[in-house]
Amino acid sequence: MRLIGILGGMSWESTVEYYRILNEEVARKLGGLASARILLASVDFSWYASRMGEGRWEEIGEALAGEARRLARGGAEALLVATNTMHRFAAELEAAAGIPLLHIADAAAEAAKARGARRVGLMGTSYTMEWGFYRDRLRERHGIEAIVPPPAERALVNRIIFEELCRGIITEESRAALRGVAAGLGAAGAEGIVLGCTELPLAMKEGELDLPYWDTTALHARAAAGFMLA
Ligand code: GLU
Repeated sequence: MRLIGILGGMSWESTVEYYRILNEEVARKLGGLASARILLASVDFSWYASRMGEGRWEEIGEALAGEARRLARGGAEALLVATNTMHRFAAELEAAAGIPLLHIADAAAEAAKARGARRVGLMGTSYTMEWGFYRDRLRERHGIEAIVPPPAERALVNRIIFEELCRGIITEESRAALRGVAAGLGAAGAEGIVLGCTELPLAMKEGELDLPYWDTTALHARAAAGFMLA
């Protein structure tokens, strides 16, 4: 089994899910007492979140590159960045580590394509919804168009992610609000919703709407399990 390096802690609420899913997948495929070989670099998210708020992205990229290098030095054979937002540094982190990065948007796109979707709704942090790094990857590599909610709803989703989900707070009120945003994307023509934040699946559950949800945490972790067992 190949050794995977997870760059996590952003937030730890979703990194826990990666750990669980990776182990479940490996046990399901190999049986018995099999479990996943993982190196985890779990960062202090408060350091990153405060710099995100201040737009100090260069420092963030450098710090993440240091963690990625540490994982590679430890023997990781591929890098799993356990957050959609920090994939804005995907190319830099892959170059710094010198090992392949398993991209979270590719995992989402493969699942959407398997359902024949060409137009998806994208929910995530403001950065993921508004900057090009995620939507461009979906379009250029996979031919998938991603539509995002209107500005007030983007701010609402971003607030719920940082003020609630990343702190382990899940309320019925916010779950209903997120469902409403997803339904709006469906009404705007999305064939399904990319849960493009690794905490969103904690509050948004497949089957609550007549639209498929693509859970990037689970899809990314399953793609990693496939790499580990290939
Ligand atoms: N985990 C989140 C994501 O998937 C948001 C936190 C972060 O900014 O890393 O984008």
